[in-house]
Amino acid sequence: MNIQENISLKSFNTFGIDKKAKFFVEVVSENEVREAITFANKKNVPLFILGGGSNILLTKDLEALVIKIEIIGIKVLEENEDQVFVEVGAGENWHSFVIQCIKNDWAGAENLSLIPGTVGASPMQNIGAYGVEIKDIFKSLQAIHRDTLQMKVFNAEECGFGYRESVFKNELKDQYVITKVVFALKKKPEFQIEYGAIKTTLEEMGIKTPSIASISQAVIHIRQSKLPDPKVIGNAGSFFKNPTVPFDFFQKLKNTYPEIPSFSNEQGVKIPAAWLIEQTGWKGKTFDKIGVHKNQPLVLVNYGGGDGYEIQVLSEKIQQSVLQKFGILLHPEVNFL
Ligand SMILES: Cc1cc2nc3c(=O)[nH]c(=O)nc-3n(C[C@H](O)[C@H](O)[C@H](O)COP(=O)(O)OP(=O)(O)OC[C@H]3O[C@@H](n4cnc5c(N)ncnc54)[C@H](O)[C@@H]3O)c2cc1C
Repeated sequence: MNIQENISLKSFNTFGIDKKAKFFVEVVSENEVREAITFANKKNVPLFILGGGSNILLTKDLEALVIKIEIIGIKVLEENEDQVFVEVGAGENWHSFVIQCIKNDWAGAENLSLIPGTVGASPMQNIGAYGVEIKDIFKSLQAIHRDTLQMKVFNAEECGFGYRESVFKNELKDQYVITKVVFALKKKPEFQIEYGAIKTTLEEMGIKTPSIASISQAVIHIRQSKLPDPKVIGNAGSFFKNPTVPFDFFQKLKNTYPEIPSFSNEQGVKIPAAWLIEQTGWKGKTFDKIGVHKNQPLVLVNYGGGDGYEIQVLSEKIQQSVLQKFGILLHPEVNFL
């Protein structure tokens, strides 16, 4: 285990923010996780657990030990006629895992193609796209408690999954290091193609009978045409969550803004945050090296050399505008550091 000092995190976050870590280590096993935590305790510095850095905003240098999770491995634990249970190391790249699923004819992850980041971070905010969330294919995870160093297995219920939420962002925040995740994938696919442009994209691709491979290709195509590639323009995907408001509140909004897009759910009415931001005039606004993406206003961007704190200030101004115009407080999806 090689603990380095004063390392730039620029290449370890998709925003491309150039902030430093006091200590930095890559860990490849559960034992190394424990060793790294012990080191941080001895040095009396806090910990930060890093995956692919695609859902963080670095606003300052981290006076901490950054533990980058590199635990790899994909192993079939058990299978039956309908399902296959696959254990995946937390450091595996999410999209590479999805591709492995497709190659093996394991269904369920295809709609989640091309989401950046690691498998270990996927339960943190119950990643989701195109009508599917990881909770739909999740069986359990293993995590090490940061104080006791004991391993605990969490089932789906214990993870408290919600829309871009889990217990690890709330009650158990900063308490566990996720080391492995077990997925329950299906042998008989149940295609989800109603959401977004999947159906029309499949038609444009000339596909009459969908397969998990063609759905994955359609999702990749849609994502590449809609979202900026972090390798080209620094970003962390959707900066804010889509807010859900009560039905009666929505009805009043609808009277004022009849064109407001919406999706009803059990909790109320979900409104696309991108629409709210666009209506407040922020779409495409650029401020020196940072800004709001010109096509996708939900994505804040670093054009190169931008500062994380300035992106935070910009996000607060957007929140303020949306609150003033619509009475809705947007909550960030990105984790601020
Ligand atoms: C272009 C783009 C598109 C995106 N699209 C989507 C999308 O469609 N849907 C979606 O849900 N998200 C999306 N995201 C957000 C991001 O990809 C996910 O949140 C992803 O799961 C983050 O993984 P990561 O490994 O990069 O996590 P990081 O950014 O490294 O970490 C995120 C949080 O998880 C914690 N963490 C990471 N690994 C562990 C671990 N092993 N144990 C404990 N804590 C850990 C970190 O401490 C941090 O708090 C997108 C991001 C980008 C840049």
